Amino acid sequence: MKIHLLQTGTVRCKQFQLTGASNVLSRLYQLIFTQKWGEWMPTYCSLIEHPEGLILVDTGETAKIYEKDYLPNGGLYHKAVETRIKESEELPHQLAKIGVQPKDISTVLLTHMHGDHIGGLSHFEHATIYVSQTEYELASSKKGRSNGYFPKNWPSWFQPTLIIYSDGPEGNFPKSQKITNDGKIVVIPTPGHSIGHQSVLVKDAKLTTIIAGDLTYNESTLRQEIPDVLLMNKAAQQTVEQVHQYVKDHPSVYLSSHDWNAPEILTQATII
Ligand SMILES: [Zn+2]
Repeated sequence: MKIHLLQTGTVRCKQFQLTGASNVLSRLYQLIFTQKWGEWMPTYCSLIEHPEGLILVDTGETAKIYEKDYLPNGGLYHKAVETRIKESEELPHQLAKIGVQPKDISTVLLTHMHGDHIGGLSHFEHATIYVSQTEYELASSKKGRSNGYFPKNWPSWFQPTLIIYSDGPEGNFPKSQKITNDGKIVVIPTPGHSIGHQSVLVKDAKLTTIIAGDLTYNESTLRQEIPDVLLMNKAAQQTVEQVHQYVKDHPSVYLSSHDWNAPEILTQATII
């Protein structure tokens, strides 16, 4: 199976999200009262060439962020994240560079539903789109907006297939969901960065590629067990420890959505 990384613009957040903060008060202070931004980072989607079809993980950012009222006009959102993208950097253009059109993709897996991961949804009405039930229910609830989700921006036809992880254990994860019939593409729950965050395993014979989403910002922070979490999520620490254990048990390549090193890690098949 071949994996392609496709960059859709850049993003930055407050530095503490990348390297951790001691407690929730420190996080809150740095979020609201400081301008300690981290570096600009890429926003990657992944395309998996699988014998059963092309599988896309996340759909990236969209240039619609510059349209009036697409993003909130004030509030915490703009203290937490900034994104940049040109229309020419959106997902369809990145797919075209490798000779793929959106209609060629049969399956879309969403790690979570923050804007920079679902900006390209409008191109995939024909596809089966998977998201965790927990994520979808929070994102579409009254609490969604205060948690950084904007359902008004979702396509009107959007009715994802909800994942409840009914396929039993995968390594040290008690629950998982197989996406393909051959069991080589598996989704595991990795809550932390968002309540229903999930990661994708691409299981080749000798090597597993973990498409981690925003679990951590890179493999170094996975090794240090520093989750990417905005304020507080009790599950976050347990999740990074669990994934860290998984990569000790299984030779793995670790791809974060926002890691500049991800392309090199992928091409070199650098085992974490
Ligand atoms: Zn996110």
